[in-house]
Amino acid sequence: MTLADFEPQLLRWRHHLHRHPETGFEEVNTADYVASVLSALGLEVHRGIGGTGLVANLTVGEGKGVIGLRAEMDALAITEAAEGRAYASQTPGRMHACGHDGHMTMVLGAARLLRERRNFSGTVRFIFQPAEEHGRGAKAMMDDGLFERFPVDEIYGAHNMPGLPAGCFATRTGGIMASEDNFVIHVKGRGTHAARPHMGVDPIVIGAEIVLALQTIVSRSLDPSLPAVISCTEFITDGIRNAIPSNVVIKGDTRSYSPDVQALLEKRMREVSTGICSTHGAECTFEYTHEFAPTVNWAECVPTALAAATAVAGAGKVDGNVQPMMISEDFGAFLRIVPGAFVFIGNGDTGATGGTPLHNARYDFNDSLLPIGARYFAEIARIRLPN
Ligand SMILES: [Zn+2]
Ligand SMILES: [Zn+2]
Repeated sequence: MTLADFEPQLLRWRHHLHRHPETGFEEVNTADYVASVLSALGLEVHRGIGGTGLVANLTVGEGKGVIGLRAEMDALAITEAAEGRAYASQTPGRMHACGHDGHMTMVLGAARLLRERRNFSGTVRFIFQPAEEHGRGAKAMMDDGLFERFPVDEIYGAHNMPGLPAGCFATRTGGIMASEDNFVIHVKGRGTHAARPHMGVDPIVIGAEIVLALQTIVSRSLDPSLPAVISCTEFITDGIRNAIPSNVVIKGDTRSYSPDVQALLEKRMREVSTGICSTHGAECTFEYTHEFAPTVNWAECVPTALAAATAVAGAGKVDGNVQPMMISEDFGAFLRIVPGAFVFIGNGDTGATGGTPLHNARYDFNDSLLPIGARYFAEIARIRLPN
């Protein structure tokens, strides 16, 4: 085999995946396709880990080290709006609008580079996870014994980033992407005639007080050097215009970069909500669910990511201290268990090719990143598994 057809092959893989998007835990054809490519490269493929997830192993030489390279397989429930795009989604209501088609292709490309160059000694595991978008797939794979069956010393991942110039790398030590938690506060008062409020317990006034008080948690309870966001996103009542309702449901979302901050937000939000309700004689139920762990890069792994990025892109295109982003990423769940690092790879400046935002119906992964990302992942393995 020769690498002469490498870049055309990356394009074929990516465009096939783009044409056939599938959402979380339904990535059946996607997993079939990825497995067939990996098998054709001569790798040992293990299917059905956490639903549609799969792992392929490549061992070269006698080295004992094991490195995991991860890609995510799911698309979004969005109808693609890209006139003239030859490889547009063939499934209405489904679209690779986050570039996971590109991420899969980069990791497949790394598999091919490492398979042909054999310039390392040890084992590389290519990990393809389902259901990243809803923050469920990493946990499903781990619950299914991912790291017991396929242990890794370190794991690496990447996400394309519109707004960052194409091919530039950015990462940082510590929190790089936020946790996402969701909350539901149910305020149960007592409905009454709108003109006779003293006969009831008004959950709207109580709920409004809760919404405002929640905003004091970040400003008054949290160390000012630690970032966090609390957003109430829904305020639902069962009332009509001339009656005070009995129930208010407040829903929302919080973000932060550390488990300690997550725990503090949950504790204070519960205290504030139940405290205000009891002051006014309403009942309160408070539910708080963890959707995404924060993505916290390990200090000992970031230098590897930076060295690999520098080898591929040149020092001028590598930022080792990027601002963290408040978006969330299921890769964080892996980093709670094993050391590793996550990088952003620029998909193109705003206004340029690749600058359309993630999750937009016109978004597209920038094909110029495919060989860059493939070389980046292969370089990680080469650095960490020297022969
Ligand atoms: Zn996404
Ligand atoms: Zn994504």
